[in-house]
Amino acid sequence: MAKIKSVVSEAAQIKLACELIELDARLQVLESETQLSRERLIRLYKEIKKKSPPKGMLPFSTDWFLTWQPNIHGTLFMNLYQACIKHTDMDDAQALVKAYQIYREQIQVLGLPEVLSMTRAWRLVKFFDAGMLTTTPCKRCTGQFVVDSYDLKKDYECGLCNMPSRAGKTKQDAASRFFNEEAQLEHA
Ligand SMILES: [Zn+2]
Repeated sequence: MAKIKSVVSEAAQIKLACELIELDARLQVLESETQLSRERLIRLYKEIKKKSPPKGMLPFSTDWFLTWQPNIHGTLFMNLYQACIKHTDMDDAQALVKAYQIYREQIQVLGLPEVLSMTRAWRLVKFFDAGMLTTTPCKRCTGQFVVDSYDLKKDYECGLCNMPSRAGKTKQDAASRFFNEEAQLEHA
């Protein structure tokens, strides 16, 4: 029985790795989320992507998630991720895959650029797990936005309610559609 169980678990690991690769996750993400060997993951990556995984350091700082556009994308993803954790029996890795798939679909429907990569989304979850980033409600729209845990403000105003002037009106329209869609999703 133990043998069957380990085969089943290995199959689940391979399925997860394949899903992550298809969503363009970097090798470090695969190593972190599965128990498969590095060699095996590289083989899988090459088989699916028909090329070697990219090398180099992963983005490391929380700052990027606090800048205007990445903050809105990170916030959308994080709301989806937390909904998956809260309302389904998915484990963390499955929720990461599912939330990122929905994020990508939403972005495509809205015709917005895909600002948040799979690897960035994974980093974002890690920053939440480490308590470095959290969400806080905007005092105007009451949406839950990604913020620095060490810089929590009582009267937080989000990047959609308090737009930087360079963002302009077109982006405002895109952004408000963006969150209407998210609201619909939550009530679905
Ligand atoms: Zn707001």
